[in-house]
Amino acid sequence: TIGWGLVGASNIARQFVINAIRQNGGEPRVVMSTDAARGAAFAKENGIAESTTDLTALLATPGVDAVYISTTNELHRDQAIAAARAGKHILCEKPLALTLADAHAAVDAAKAAGVVFATNHHLRNAGAHRAMRQAILDGRIGRPLAARVFHAVYLPPSLQGWRINAPEAGGGVILDIAVHDADTLRFVLGDEPESVVAMTQSSGMASVGLADAVMTTVTFRSGLIAQTHDAFTSKYAGTGFEVHGTEGSLIARDVMTQQPIGSLVLRNEAGEQAIDFDRTDLYVRALGAFHAAMRGEGQPAATGEDGIRSLAFGLAVAEAAKTGGTVKVETGL
Ligand code: NDP
Repeated sequence: TIGWGLVGASNIARQFVINAIRQNGGEPRVVMSTDAARGAAFAKENGIAESTTDLTALLATPGVDAVYISTTNELHRDQAIAAARAGKHILCEKPLALTLADAHAAVDAAKAAGVVFATNHHLRNAGAHRAMRQAILDGRIGRPLAARVFHAVYLPPSLQGWRINAPEAGGGVILDIAVHDADTLRFVLGDEPESVVAMTQSSGMASVGLADAVMTTVTFRSGLIAQTHDAFTSKYAGTGFEVHGTEGSLIARDVMTQQPIGSLVLRNEAGEQAIDFDRTDLYVRALGAFHAAMRGEGQPAATGEDGIRSLAFGLAVAEAAKTGGTVKVETGL
């Protein structure tokens, strides 16, 4: 059994990741929270034997082989470095950090320690996105020319906390949602973003200068152009992901989500054809790949480098929105 330490008594751990660990034969042994009472309640609610307020104690808990870091974003870097130094494998939430240098520091620490480091970009585990990637590789839309990502959603009241009022914790829609678009576009297209222009909106949900919506236009290495729309404020928009090529279009709906749902069609000269895809739980698949990587079998679904690249995209979007100019995506890789 692979033992896990959960760094952060978070919603995402409770909703998805604890189950995904257990579905893959792992077991969360200890959870860390800054609040002893909440940590104890979280442990009890989720059937975890121990809780602590101390990261060093978590890392020293017997049987902890790997850690899942799902605290607020400004804490990821130091917690990842401490875990790497303790020889623990690391699944870290996105964004990896608030700056590129900090993300590199976390990934470099894992490399130096020889531990697996993964970024929890769940969407590349979705059957819909994997089917789109395969269709493109199989040449079914010819040469991809454009992509559109619809990722404007409504942030449920229960999550209207640090995301909308804490710039110091890496709040705002760009680091929360746009980084996922970057990873999904890179994965589906097998291409790298080169430069972006963007405009943000602060419509009243987010405070203290944080954006609660953003629209971005991106150019990729191949010459492909993409548009993304991310929001906390769109109750009824629905999500989607489209890639348009010289010979056809892939059109997916309801796929920018945590659930293995949605639909995918190929539209071309022959008309419209539904494409079936695997409906495995995204997080279960991610944890399966992570456990395999710990055994030396392959890479995690999204690596540390993938996390650096999505953060670089997010930082470029933020800079472009601030300056009104075109900003190159600099990864430092
Ligand atoms: P939460 O707000 O649930 O948890 C983040 C931190 O907030 C926790 O570490 C916890 O601190 C503190 N906290 C949680 N509940 C309370 C509370 N009731 N009162 C006071 N503090 C509280 O965050 P999320 O689970 O939404 O996000 C955590 C991380 O995961 C972020 O980095 C986010 O970007 C990422 N994320 C990724 C997703 C994905 O699909 N890949 C989806 C959702 C989030 P403490 O540990 O000290 O108790």
